[in-house]
Parts: sequence; structure tokens; C-alpha cells
Amino acid sequence: MEALARYRDRELVERVARSIREVGVEGKVRIMHVCGTHEQVISHYGLRSLLPDNVEVIAGPGCPVCVVPAREVDEAVELALRRRVILATFGDMYRVPGSRMSLAEAKAHGADVRVVYSVRDAVKIAEENPSRQVVFFAIGFETTAPTTASELVAGPPRNFSVLVSHRLIPPVMELLLGVAETYFDGFICPGHVATIIGTRPFKLFPEAYRMPTVIAGFEPLDIMVAVKHVVDQVAKGEARLVNEYRRSVRDEGNPKALKLMEEVFEVCDGHWRGIGRVPHSALRLKDSFREYDARERFKVEVGPSRDLRPGCSCHLVLTGRLNPTECPLFAKACTPRTPHGPCMVSSEGTCNIWFRHGGRPVIR
Ligand code: SF4
Repeated sequence: MEALARYRDRELVERVARSIREVGVEGKVRIMHVCGTHEQVISHYGLRSLLPDNVEVIAGPGCPVCVVPAREVDEAVELALRRRVILATFGDMYRVPGSRMSLAEAKAHGADVRVVYSVRDAVKIAEENPSRQVVFFAIGFETTAPTTASELVAGPPRNFSVLVSHRLIPPVMELLLGVAETYFDGFICPGHVATIIGTRPFKLFPEAYRMPTVIAGFEPLDIMVAVKHVVDQVAKGEARLVNEYRRSVRDEGNPKALKLMEEVFEVCDGHWRGIGRVPHSALRLKDSFREYDARERFKVEVGPSRDLRPGCSCHLVLTGRLNPTECPLFAKACTPRTPHGPCMVSSEGTCNIWFRHGGRPVIR
């Protein structure tokens, strides 16, 4: 606990913030993070208010719930409402809008939708209900995919299957660098993803795109130090990968978790809500695990889908081109109680986080 306290020490954080000012970098420096937990820490501790005016931290597509396309929510609704399965999902996914309705609305129409904390809970429901089909809606990045894989390798009951909606972080980061005009100057990468996949997949960004890149942990000091590393590199015209989160991240990642993912999944292209098709950014079950694929088992078919409602700016928020408060619907038509877009639903959504922190970061 003492070590953790150091990472939350306000004086230390402020000292690093002062050292960022002293770098005196010219022009605007925009740093993108791609992690809902990073946004929560930045907003909760008011870290933006400690930064000089010309250094801005923007949120990218780091909320695993927000990026699930409407089509995959529609598939979950179809399974729950018309195929009468028990649909197990994480709480954050429950109210995310599909094209026609959310899982919460499907439940109101009589579907059996259950909120679980883990894939293990979903397997347990299958064990307790052998006469019912149970489908786990498997969302999340590299941090949660190994747990899905682990249950499938262990051999779940025959009435259990998975609607796979996992996504991979480095490919979407690369996609953002491929746009005509790059609108940020550095990346802060999620330490928990790097704990699984290691540092190597992130080397691409400094080496191929000249983008300063820092893997960071989840305490205020971690993030402020990561900002300092990026600003230093920008000032010197350098581009390197820095692993700020050495207490958890190894170069090779977590071999056991990687082996599980490799055994169960293969990489495919994936559609991200508000972003579109991202090459090599999703996972699907390998043939040897296809028997647990809910799409195969139930031959799920849904009609045309619609990711964004009229007036929704989530595509701009998810790509860091718009701050939530710049969306005309923010805190008016769109609130956590009346979400208009996915970014307002999840506790990891940037709009939801900004709403809970009053829309403006403050010093605590
Ligand atoms: Fe989407 Fe609502 Fe955020 Fe606007 S305020 S970007 S509609 S979630």
C-alpha cells in the first residue's frame, strides 16, 4: 500500500507536471491514450488541469463497450429475444443501444438477459441450467480475451456458447495513424493490454510512424510521467517506445495468456462502432472451437444495422477529434440516464466519465 501511495502522491504528480512546463515545448502537443481506465484516472484526479495549455491529452477508442458495433448488439438481442437463450453479459453492455434496442430493452420484452461479472459466472449458469442454452457475450480487448479462452479450453458444458466480440488495440491505433492528417503527437498505451501482449506490438508506432509511444500504468503518477516522456521526445524530435509500467509489463508479455488466446482464437478484420472496418483487429474462434460459436450454433442473422443515431457524435469522440462537451447533446439530450450514444453508457465511456466529473476536469 505504501508503494501505491507514492503513485498517488499529489506533490510528486505536481512536480512532474512542473517539469513538463519546464520543457517549454513549442506549439500544441496532443497525446492520445486508448484506455477507459486511463480516462477515469485523468478525469478523477484532474490531471489535465495540471498540464500547460499547449499540452492536451485526448481520449481515443479505449472503451471496450463503446466500440462494439450495433450489429453485434443486434445479434445478442436476436439470440435473447427470438432464440430464447439465456444471454449473459457484462453490466456495462446491458444498456448499449443496438440498431433497434438494447439488451435491457430486450429483457423488458421478455428476454432472459443476465448480468455477470465474468465468463466463469456464465459457465456456472450453463451448469445450473442444463436444459437451457446459455450464450456469453464476450466483449473486451486483449485483457479479457484470455479469460474467455481459458473457459473454452477447460471444456464448458455443451449448452454453453460464446458470441465473440473481442477486439485488439494495436491495429486500431495503427488505423488512426493511417488517416490523411495525423492530429496527435504521441500515444499513451494501456498497461494492462501490454501486460498480456508485451511491449513488442507497440514498437511499430515509433519505428514505422515516428510516433513517441509510452506504455503507462493506472495511477496519477504513471500517467503524468508518461505525458512527460512524450513531451520530452516531441521537444527533442525523437520517437521511442518507453515502458513506464515496468512493475507489470514485460517485453514478452504473459506467455500463458498469449498461448491460450493462440489456441482458441484467430485474428480477423473487425468492425468498430464509429470507426468502421479495422484490419486484423478482431478475434474469432478457431475451427477446433467452432462448436462453441453461438453464431454457428444458432445461425444468427440480423438485418441492416445502424451504429449511430442521428445527431450522435460518438464517432468523433471515439477517435479523439471531439471532446464530449463539444457534442451538442452532451448533458442535455444525452446523459447516463438517457444515453443517446454508447460513449455515455459505459463507465469506461469518455462521455460518461466526463459527465460524472462535471464535464470539466478539476483539481482534487
Ligand atoms: Fe455520443 Fe452522447 Fe457523447 Fe454526444 S454526448 S458523443 S451523443 S455519447
